[in-house]
Order: sequence, then structure tokens, then C-alpha cells
Amino acid sequence: HETGPRHTPTSTLANGPVISPPHTVDAFVKAFLHELNFGQGVPLSRSSVNDQYLALARTVRSYLMARWLETARRRRTDKPAKMVGYLSAEYLLGRQLDNALLATELTDIATEAMVACGIEIDDLRQQEVEPGLGNGGLGRLAACFIDSMATLGASSIAYGIRYEYGIFQQTFVDNRQVEKPDAWLSMGGPWGVVHPEMEVPVNFGGHVETYVGEDGRERRRWTPAWGVMALRYNYMVPGYQNGVVNTLRLWRARATESFDLHIFNAGDYAEAVRAQTFAENISKVLYPEDSTPQGKELRLQQQYFFVAASIKDFIQHTMPKDFDVRDLPERIIFQLNDTHPVIGIPELMRILLDEHDLEWEEAWAITKQCFAYTCHTLLPEALEVWPVSLMERLLPRHMEIIYRINEDFVAELRETYPGDELRVRRMSIIADHPERSVRMAHLATVASVKVNGVAALHSELLKEKVLNDFSELWPERFTNVTNGVTPRRFIKLSNPEQSKLISDTIGKGWVANLDRLEELVGYADDADFREKFRAVKAHNKTRIRNVLVSRDGIALPEGHLLDVMVKRLHEYKRQSLKLLHIVTLYDRLISGEVEPSTVTPRTVVFGAKAAPGYAMAKETIFLINSVAQTVNNDPRVDGRLFVAFPPNYNVTLAEKLIPAADLSEQISLAGKEASGTGNMKFALNGALTIGTDDGANVEIRQLVGDENFFLFGMTEPEVAELQAKGYRPGEYYERDPQLRRAIDLIASGHFTKGSRDAVSSFVGDLLYNDRFLALADYAAYIEAQDKVEAAYGDQDNWSRMAILNVARTGFFSSDRSIRDYIDRIWHVKTGV
Ligand code: PLP
Repeated sequence: HETGPRHTPTSTLANGPVISPPHTVDAFVKAFLHELNFGQGVPLSRSSVNDQYLALARTVRSYLMARWLETARRRRTDKPAKMVGYLSAEYLLGRQLDNALLATELTDIATEAMVACGIEIDDLRQQEVEPGLGNGGLGRLAACFIDSMATLGASSIAYGIRYEYGIFQQTFVDNRQVEKPDAWLSMGGPWGVVHPEMEVPVNFGGHVETYVGEDGRERRRWTPAWGVMALRYNYMVPGYQNGVVNTLRLWRARATESFDLHIFNAGDYAEAVRAQTFAENISKVLYPEDSTPQGKELRLQQQYFFVAASIKDFIQHTMPKDFDVRDLPERIIFQLNDTHPVIGIPELMRILLDEHDLEWEEAWAITKQCFAYTCHTLLPEALEVWPVSLMERLLPRHMEIIYRINEDFVAELRETYPGDELRVRRMSIIADHPERSVRMAHLATVASVKVNGVAALHSELLKEKVLNDFSELWPERFTNVTNGVTPRRFIKLSNPEQSKLISDTIGKGWVANLDRLEELVGYADDADFREKFRAVKAHNKTRIRNVLVSRDGIALPEGHLLDVMVKRLHEYKRQSLKLLHIVTLYDRLISGEVEPSTVTPRTVVFGAKAAPGYAMAKETIFLINSVAQTVNNDPRVDGRLFVAFPPNYNVTLAEKLIPAADLSEQISLAGKEASGTGNMKFALNGALTIGTDDGANVEIRQLVGDENFFLFGMTEPEVAELQAKGYRPGEYYERDPQLRRAIDLIASGHFTKGSRDAVSSFVGDLLYNDRFLALADYAAYIEAQDKVEAAYGDQDNWSRMAILNVARTGFFSSDRSIRDYIDRIWHVKTGV
């Protein structure tokens, strides 16, 4: 896609076509052996599983590469089109091999080729370590979106960071979470292609001074104190069987020669190496906080690092040499995935002002057309702010520019709202309390063409609450794009049995046109189809049982309702409420209140990582594990309740677990979950949802119908009302004997080997704080769960409901989300 430094050979071969290896088993075997022998340097007879995996990955990559080169060539020769530059600090990609095989229609050929070589392809699949370059929903959304952009042939490029260590590996020791580093590259990263000669410098620190240019005008000059090089790694993002392969460009930090030369020259070798390590730290590790930014300097370095590299790369390498930056708005729209890349706004201003000599007004007019911002939260603590003192030290020129943007903005506000200083202070990009800092969401909103929320309810609350002042000022700037998930990875690949049933019934077109699932609606009343649908679920349950036995030594019981809550551990998501439900079920069984044989057997599976510094989340993990241990070993339970918490929930596990679920737990406090995407994956894989009126649950329920959804709990206005009135969780404890028994059982140390201390912070928080109102929704939740059990008793009707969930949730394809972005925000071409 780029026109950077090139040496074009004069040979006639230079403009010849790219030769793709043929789609035959023979050709594939040949290419595979070539990679094994001459790439890995081993004969087949002496190759390890890892050698075979790497050779297979590179073989598939060569087929992708042919399409990638062709896509780039086409886009170079066609009339230049406006592109999307998707900027995201996270991409939670999941394993690459199967998706690449699916996209290139090589699954059967590769399988046969491996058989011909005497290799079980499944063993090679297991060898791949997923690139976990994201925390959860936000990063996984970015991964689904790039899949859809490629599938729609949207002219686009995605940018991010190639963290050396992705999201930590979670282990449990004595029921507590212990984090291990995620060395995902240690066995070789076959999917990324590095171009060391295309690196880009990124600078930090130093000072700014005024100088007078040749034209007599005063200008500002930034003299940075230090810098690093951004090394580009290209990852190929294949569209689904359409010949398109897009680029995901991830940056890795490398020390510059000049960075340490003077230290080397001073003779301090050790210091020079330390300095080099310091520079390379920038892309070393993904910050493991989900929704709660830590305000660490290194994180700001990461943000500026990847955004500055990306913008420079786009202007210098993707645009033609004679490109005029005044044309930028016709050539690019940068989509900001949350506030992490918002520093790109002053960076583009700096480039236009300082490197291209534009006047402020012109630079601002251009910049304002080049960004759009997606907000992902409603939690005030999740809104990123950076201390002015840190900004001034790390990015002094950018801080100046932000001050100037704010000055103009505040002047505009004072004109619009004379005398309303309170409003001006609320809206200012600079906050004065508790510390002078930059509000990144405000900066993003001021500079963006559009600001979008990620579900209908979220976008409304964004306008009413989080960014209310801004939506009053610029109502037309706000829009909604409901999130989506890719049907390729999360149905076709993750649920082959359901996919086959659907394709056998309505044809194969649904994979790239998920609305077609609607054609299944009529089959909900077809007994034969329901039978087949149940068989798919049973198959998927057997599959997850096998996975968990070999992965974790966990043996799930058979014949249970499979109740799944998988997502990051966060108080607002209310794993604690789920836990109270489990303890209530357990209490009913051991107290003799119910006869075990009358109880619907249920297995609850949790998956959840906690941010390493998030104490309450870690306490909850400890308690879930402790409850699981007690419940699973109590003979009085009589096999009616089982709790499993496999460690290290990630995309690979999600792909196996979600298709097996009967019940999807989406129980966040109303008004707190921006969208959720796990909720969509479950519905599309034939699970029924028990959920609050929150995030995209609202739209799921509207689409599937109230009768096919277990709704419970307060609505967002009810929550607001209760909080305004003064919420006292203790009152619920006093009033509800069932709740009291559950909490007392936990508090007694029953699940923690008699230790009350081990649970005191958890119990104390529930009774005296309970910020997310778990106790207020408890009774409604238990009642809804009792309805679930009654409904599950009628298997035929349950299947009917599940089929309708699949049939009516095609809306949640990320292809639809991307089409919405294109229509409402980006206005770029597709089919290229
Ligand atoms: N983590 C992983 C591995 C996921 O696949 C997903 C989404 O499916 C999430 C987190 C986000 O889950 P939720 O939307 O339930 O928060």
C-alpha cells in the first residue's frame, strides 16, 4: 500500500503478476515441505510439532500473502479511495490458523495435505498460542471489526501495538489468581511480517521554543529529549472468501542508534544497554486493566508511540510522495477505539503546524475532519485523564496544542453560554480537580466528526449523562453504532455442527449475510429441526467436556443445564450476584428445603480474569473457587449442582465454551455495561439469556422477543432513583430470609475452611457498600432463575426459544456494525 523507499528492479519480472500457489493438495504438500525443510531447516522425519505448526502457518500465510499483494496492487492502481485508519491499543485476535484456512478456502486441502504427511492437523492447531493483545470486549471488538472490514472490502488499515507480552496467563494457587507472563512469541510468531527498513521515529520529552522562520513568521520548535524507532509488523487480515486481505499494522519499539550512542561513547556499556531496554519497554507489555486506566507514564508512552507511528506511516508511506496534507480529509478517517489513541489529535495538529507550516485555523479545520471517536463506557472512573504535569514532561508540544485547542473551545462556550461558568468548567478539556489534567474524552469529542456509543441504550445514556453538555451543544455529532461479532470466528469456526445444520437448512450464504438467519424462524416449529438443534448442543457439550478434562482436569457432569458466565471480573458485571444465586441453590439442597431429585441439575461455568491490582475482583475469584470446591465435594448436593472455573479464559476457550451453553449470564447493573459482545455470541450460538435491561441486552431482547429472554432487575431509571434516595444494602439483607441465609453461609466461613476473615472484605462490601446494587436485584434474579429451571423442564419449548434466538440475532453481525460505521461516519467505499 505504500510508496516508501523502494528499489524497483528494471527486469520485466518487476511488474509481473503475483503467483499464488495452486489450491491443490499436492501443491500444498510441496509448499509445506518447502517451509519445513528450508524455513525450519528440518526434514519431516525429524520435525517437532512446533516445526510442523510453523511450517503450516507459513504455508497458509503464503496463500494469504498472494491475496494481500493483489489487494494492495488493486488499491494502488484504482482511483485512490478514502481509507479508514482504525486506531486501537488492543486487538484480542485469538488463534489465526483456522481463520486463515477458512478465508482462503484451504481447510480441506490443508487437512488432506497433513494426512498425506502423516500429521494430525488438530495437534498443530493446539500448538498455536493465541495473540492475546487485548483485555476483553474492547480488544475483541477491534478484532471482529477488522475481520468485517476485510469481508466487506472496506478500504482500511488497522494500527496497534505488538506487545511482547499480551494479557497475562491466569493460574489459580490455593483458589487465588496468580498471574504469569504471556510469552506468546516464544515459540515463534509466524503470522507477523516485519519490515525493519520501514521503521518510523517517535520522539518524547525535551522542550519547545519560539523561532522566527524564513518568512518572518514566529513558529514553535519542539526539541525532543529522546526517541525510539517504531518497527512495523504487518499482519494479514483476510476477508471471508472474497480475495481481499487487509493489513493490521502493529508497532514494536526499538532503541535508536542515536539514543544510546553517546552513552556507548562515554564507555558505559551497561548503562547503554539499560537505556536500550528502557526504549524497548514501550511495547513490552499490555496493561492488564480493563475499564480502569491506571495513569501510568509508560501507558501514555505506549499510546503516543503507536499513534504517532501510525499517522506518520500513513502520511509518509501510504500516501503518494507528492501528497498534499490539505487533502487528508479526502483520504483518511481515523477511528479512535476509546480514548487510548486520542493523543493522535494534537499529534496531527503538530504535524500540520510544525512540519507542514499550516496556519492554526487551517490545521484545525483539517484535523477536525480526520477523527471519529467511539466511547466504550459509562463508568466515570473509566474515563481517561492524564495529569498536565506528565503531559508537559513527556509531550510538551502536544500539551501546548491541547491548551490552545481548549482556549478556543472555552471561548466558543463563553459565547454560547454567557455567564455559565459552571458549564464551561464542566466541559473544559482541562480539569482543575483533583489534579490539573487532560480529559481525553472531551478532547476527542471536541475534535471528532462523530462520537458514537456502542449500543442503543449506551448511546442514549452517553448523551444524557457522560457527555450531556456536549450533546446539547452539538446534537448532530452524536450517533449510535451497536456492536457486533464476526460470524466467521464465532459461529462458522467455533460451532461447526450448528453451522452445518444452518447451511443444510437455508444454504451457505448466511456466513457473509447474517440477516439470512431469519429464514430459520419457521423451523423453530419443526420438531425434526428442533431434534437436530438439540443434537448440536449435546455434541458441543461433549466437546467442552473433553476440552476441560484435557486442559484443566475438570470433569463436567453430564445431562446438566449449562449455565455460563464468562467475561472480565468486574464489580459492575456482578459475578457476586451469580455467586449468591449458587449459594442459594446450594443452601436449598443442603438444608433439605428441596428434595434433590426435584431440582434441575445445573453446572455453572465461570471464566474471568481480574486486573492484577483490583483487590475486590480478586477476592471474588477466591470466593468463586472456594464455593466451587465446597459445592462440588458435598455429597448432600447429590450431583445436582456443579461449579467450574477453568482458569485463563481467552478467545480459544470462548470458542469452545459458548457453543455449549444453554444459559448466558448477562447480569450487569442496568446502565453500566456499554454493550457487551459476549451476550451476542451466546444468543447466536443458541443459548438463552438471563439478563438485565443493559447494554445490547436491550436490543437482543427486542429482537428475540420477551418470551424468549429471561429479563430481570431494575431498569436504569429505577437504579438512578434508588441511588438518589440512598441505597442501603443492609435493608435487603434484613428483609429477605433467603438472601440472609446465603450471605450468612458465606460469612460463616463455610466455603473457606472455617475462616471468616477470608471472606470478611467480600461480605462487608456487599452489606455496607454494594456499589452495583447486587442485593437490590437479588430477589428478582432468583425468581428469574427459577423460571429458567421451569422452562428448561420443557426441552422442546426450550429448543424452540433457542432457535428463535439464533434466527433473530443476525443483526449482531459485525458486518452490520461496520456497514453502520461506513454509512454514518466513515463514508468510504466497499468492495475494494
Ligand atoms: N473476553 C473474551 C475472551 C471474549 O471473547 C469476550 C467477548 O466475547 C469478552 C471478553 C467480552 O465479554 P463481555 O461482552 O461478556 O464482557
